Amino acid sequence: MQTNLSVKKAPLRRLVMMVVVLSAAIALSACGSNEAKKGTEGKLNIVTTIGMIGDVTEQVGGDHVTVTSLMGPGVDPHLYKASQGDMKKLDGADIVFYNGLHLEGKMVDILEKMSSHKKTVAVSKTIPESELLSDPVAGGNSHDPHIWFNVQNWMKATEVIRDTLIEADSAHAEDYRKNAEAYLLQLKETDDYAREQIGTIPDDRRILVTAHDAFHYFGRAYNIQVMGLQGISTASEYGSKDVSDLRDYLVEHHIKAVFVESSVSTKAIEAVIEGAKKKGHTVEIGGELFSDAMGQPGTKEGTYIGMVRHNVDIIVKALK
Ligand code: ZN
Repeated sequence: MQTNLSVKKAPLRRLVMMVVVLSAAIALSACGSNEAKKGTEGKLNIVTTIGMIGDVTEQVGGDHVTVTSLMGPGVDPHLYKASQGDMKKLDGADIVFYNGLHLEGKMVDILEKMSSHKKTVAVSKTIPESELLSDPVAGGNSHDPHIWFNVQNWMKATEVIRDTLIEADSAHAEDYRKNAEAYLLQLKETDDYAREQIGTIPDDRRILVTAHDAFHYFGRAYNIQVMGLQGISTASEYGSKDVSDLRDYLVEHHIKAVFVESSVSTKAIEAVIEGAKKKGHTVEIGGELFSDAMGQPGTKEGTYIGMVRHNVDIIVKALK
């Protein structure tokens, strides 16, 4: 009797098991719509375009993320094309962070296609339209993408990264919140530092001349006039008229120093210096600024905050 009964019960038990497994699967897939899948070590695998976004993601993500930035020191994001290796990294990512506003001009198609099946987030997305500067070269609806030059914009980007991580990995929400809070405080101090320091340059000398037009957000935020030789994107060529216009400007305004950038060729700015020299005006290279890429990893300039402070210090030293 005993044996018979257990035989009869078996199919029912199997049915119950199936229901349990099925409902677990449904629960899991419902979960999957909000929770990003995690890599082998249980960390979120994050890929960013420029290093400055990678740095913020590491600061906010802490131990719960692994971060890969595609564009290293000295790399120009306007011209950067994704390699086969990059495509693999992007495919394997749980989240992709990029700047947006067409900074990554040659990657827009890839990022747009990817957004249909992967969490891809432009860190510039919460900056209000009214805060965005227009691109003086392209005009129309195009915006200047160099938002990180105003540290307050980068604070907004930090919040976007924080909120995206919380949404993808709510189990560690408290850590992401705490990390972001501490980092935002450091950004605020950096923002204050830049304003104070640039403010020490006498008014008539507060003119920043650089190779490409990347510093307009910096100029507006920290009250310094900005002149660039090349358009907003390094993809736009400079002409001989740009060189002679800038040369004349330097001579007229007695500007003593211009700046080169780590991710832009120095050829153009050297042509301007040479031109000024022929007109009897000596211009020095005030130093190397980090504009569209950070410095080497492990150095002060290899972080976003270090890069901003370096730029401020170099500018103040050369112009004061
Ligand atoms: Zn640029």
